[in-house]
Formats: sequence, structure tokens, C-alpha cells
Amino acid sequence: MTVKVRFAPSPTGRLHVGNVRTALLNVLFARSQGGAVLLRIDDTDLERSTQENEDAIKADLIWLGLSWDETFKQSERFDKYEAAKQSLIDQGLLYPCYETEDELDRKRKIQRAQSKPPVYDRAALSLTDEDKAKLDAEGRKPHWRFKLSGGRIEWTDLVRGPSHIETSSVSDPILIRADGSYLYTLPSVVDDLDSNVTHIIRGEDHVTNSAAQIEIFEALGGQGSAPAMGHTALLVGADGDKLSKRLGSLSIEDLREIDGYEPMAVCSLLAKIGTSDAVDARDDLQQLADEFEFGKLSRTPARFDPEELKRLNAKLVHAMSYADAQPKLAALDADGGEAVWLTVRPNLTFVKDVIEWVRLIEGPVTPAIADEDADFVSQAGDMLPEGALTGESWSVWTGALKEATGRKGKALFKPLRMALTGQERGPEMAEILPLIGAEKAKARLKGVTV
Ligand code: GLU
Repeated sequence: MTVKVRFAPSPTGRLHVGNVRTALLNVLFARSQGGAVLLRIDDTDLERSTQENEDAIKADLIWLGLSWDETFKQSERFDKYEAAKQSLIDQGLLYPCYETEDELDRKRKIQRAQSKPPVYDRAALSLTDEDKAKLDAEGRKPHWRFKLSGGRIEWTDLVRGPSHIETSSVSDPILIRADGSYLYTLPSVVDDLDSNVTHIIRGEDHVTNSAAQIEIFEALGGQGSAPAMGHTALLVGADGDKLSKRLGSLSIEDLREIDGYEPMAVCSLLAKIGTSDAVDARDDLQQLADEFEFGKLSRTPARFDPEELKRLNAKLVHAMSYADAQPKLAALDADGGEAVWLTVRPNLTFVKDVIEWVRLIEGPVTPAIADEDADFVSQAGDMLPEGALTGESWSVWTGALKEATGRKGKALFKPLRMALTGQERGPEMAEILPLIGAEKAKARLKGVTV
């Protein structure tokens, strides 16, 4: 059997960390099996789906390295869904219902008051052809429900293990709304069957849908036609609470454009949280795929901690070669050459943090020298160690200055930093001094803007 998975975003919004984790786990599983990935655009909601969202979702997936082998949109396949609808009607498994939202609400309230579960009472099943003709003549538009078997649906979940749902405790799901639009349930099954999808991996918020879908698979594709299913635990915040609104809607676009994260930091974190593996950065998706196993996924929620994402990002940046960094540096207009990159990278969390360093190194920097420090700073310029500056130069130099002037602590260090960088705060002086170089350092200590 050739493994085939699908990721099925609805282009009604952007990708965020939660749905990217689903995409990632699908891709990792497929790659671990030499299988294929289908990107299905679930745009049956024609009002809320936009081309702009679809393009942005694809751009995000490409940036993350989550490629696909095949893609299509559901809006191109309405004829298939119509045929499936007819097949279910012919089998007596899809029936029209005329209750309004208000009527359904009232029924649920009464059930709750009687301590009964709010399961649809199937009143529409007893409508006669005459009743229906009358309602149609009144201009009432039906919505359509799938008739569940009422039995127990069992499957071995790839993540949750042996699972079951008693369909008697679930309402017959609405597959088609009164306005004729399809909910995702039926089109998804039709497409999974047509595309020969072998594994459905999605969040555990879909578990109840899965039971109904297994019955729809069997109605349309025959016994045993439902793909294997895995339902992953949802993401929670670092404190174990529901993902906050801000984090839950954290878009990949923001992580990329505003924060400047590396795609592999995002993928590494999302692949490792909620698993038995340690959360650590990996250089490429193939490594993550090689390490992927359903058995490692925990049933308890996966904690998404932005601080951990930063830690992984920093680790990737610290190990990034100049060749890999160079295009990014060029785009930031902050390419100071290989030596600068190699010296500076251990201090960075994001590649873009390099900008500040390069600006201080290359200048022009206007030295900030207080009147009362002018003599001291000038003397410091005269006392700069001879020859090329190294990682030790700062401590050798400030040690000698301390001895010569009696200054120490802030009175010693702050005027030097202010003269050399024009700022009160910034990178470690011991590291930046050799990059500034003796010539520029001396000039700045003499008050020259270079
Ligand atoms: N478009 C559906 C969603 O985003 C797909 C669910 C599925 O993976 O089957 O919820």
C-alpha cells in the first residue's frame, strides 16, 4: 500500500500554529513512509473562502518546506458531491429536514430541561411525501441529514489507540445546509475516496465527525473503505491552559515576516511538542521525518511555548554557516562578511538581530562623550593595545586603564561603550571591539564619527 495523506485547510483565514502542526505531522508521516501528500483546498464555503487566503496558505507551507505532490480545490468538484448526495438519498441514508434554527434550539432546550442529551429526534424521518410536498410548496428549503446507524463505530486510532463512538448518542449530522451549501463532512469523504487517501491525520476536535464519516465512507465506498485515522491532541499554552487567543491565532506569516523565525525552528518545535522526544532543533524536515512515529505522540495536550520557539531559533542561528546566512544578511542589508557573521552569531536569537551589530561595527557611529569623560576617553584611545585587536583585548585594555586612572566599574566601562558605540547599552564590548578594529576604535575614542 502506498501511503497517501492529505492536508485540507479551509481558505477562510491564514495558517496558524495549530493547523500547521496538523500539516506538518501529515508531511512527516508521509515522508517517513515514502508516501505522497495531497493539499486539498476546502473551499466549499464560497462566501468566506478567498483566493488571497489560498495563496497565503500555500506561501506559508512552501516557506515551512511542507511540499505537496498534488493539489485541488473542492469548489471544482461540486458535481461529484451532487452524485454522492444522490447515492445517499437512493440508499435512504440522507433525508431532508425542515426545522428552522429556532425550532431546533427549542427542542434542545426541552431535552436539556428533561436531562436528556440534545440529540436530534429524527422527527423529519416521519414526514410523509405529502408533508414534504406541502413544505416545499410553502417555499421551505430543507437541510439534509445523514442517517447514522445507531450502532457503535470502532476504529484503531493511530494516536489514541482503540476508539469508539456510540452513534446513538450523536445527532444525525447535517451534510447540506438549507441554502444548498455543503458542510465539509461529505465532500471530504468523497475526495478521500477518489484520491485514494490512506491515512487521515487531524486534530482530536474531529473525533465525533470521524465516526459519522466512517459510516459515510462505507455507504459510498463499501465496507472497509475508510482510511486509517489518527487524531492528535490539541495545542495548549505553556501553562497548560487553552492556547490564548494571541497564541492560538499566531499566524505563520507573523512568525516569518514580523518575528523573523527560521522555518526549521517552527517545524522542530511543532514536531516535538506532545511527543516522547526531547524538544530540540533539527536542521531539516527529513531528520524530523526519520524520527517520526505515531507511538511517540502523546494523548495529553502539546504545550506550545513561545520561549521554547525562541530557544530553538537561537540554536539554529548559532550553528548557521555563513553560506546559509548570507542571502538573509544581504536581504537585511547587514552583510558584514564571514568573520563578522561567525563572531556575532552566538549572540543572536534571530538573524535580524545582526543588524544592530553590523551597524555598530561598520558605522558611521557618532561617539557620545560627556565633557567630564573627554580626557579619560582620549587617554583610552592612546592606550589601545598595539597590533590587531582580539577577544582578549578588551579586558587587557580596560585592566590597564583601571590601573592608570583609578576608574572602575561603571565609571570605567560606560564612557568607553558610549564613545565606541554611541549607545549606553548593546552587545558585549569584548566581542565587538575586535570587529570595530583598532583604527575605527581610536577615531571614535577621539570623538570622530566613523
Ligand atoms: N477543512 C477541514 C478543516 O479544516 C478539514 C478537516 C479534515 O482534515 O478532514 O477542519
